[in-house]
Amino acid sequence: VPAETERATAMLQDLKRAGLKLTPQRIAIVRLFATDRSHPTAQDLFERLRPAFPSMSFATVYNTLDTLANTGLAGLVRLPGKKGDAARFDPNTSPHHHAVCDRCGAVLDIAAGTLAAPPGAVKRLRRAAPGFSVRAVERIYRGLCARCSLADAQAK
Ligand SMILES: [Zn+2]
Ligand SMILES: [Zn+2]
Repeated sequence: VPAETERATAMLQDLKRAGLKLTPQRIAIVRLFATDRSHPTAQDLFERLRPAFPSMSFATVYNTLDTLANTGLAGLVRLPGKKGDAARFDPNTSPHHHAVCDRCGAVLDIAAGTLAAPPGAVKRLRRAAPGFSVRAVERIYRGLCARCSLADAQAK
């Protein structure tokens, strides 16, 4: 069984546990989201599903993703960039950093062993922001994705 299928199944079970009815719309949202590596906004998924579910509301998409985020089965990333700072949802819940393309806004996952703050960083943090209690340290790599780099090279 591919990991994405397992992830979709786990997500559906959690939605049920959270008290949401598993309607065909919600199942379609979860199936699409579980395999989506693009860190979509609720609006992105809403637009892609609308042709198949013309009566579906934006709130259904948003609430489904929000419930997944609240139960820990989806990550929530806010990355100022091309899409503004709209909440983007992330089916990858293992520790990772993000690489963001300056030009097209693509967001890629960079696996990380842990997001725990290294001891040196904790020391610096204590000096810079006394009293702040750190939960995670996430990095953002900024630059150009492969496709935009290639387009750049060809334009020269
Ligand atoms: Zn790009
Ligand atoms: Zn991610």
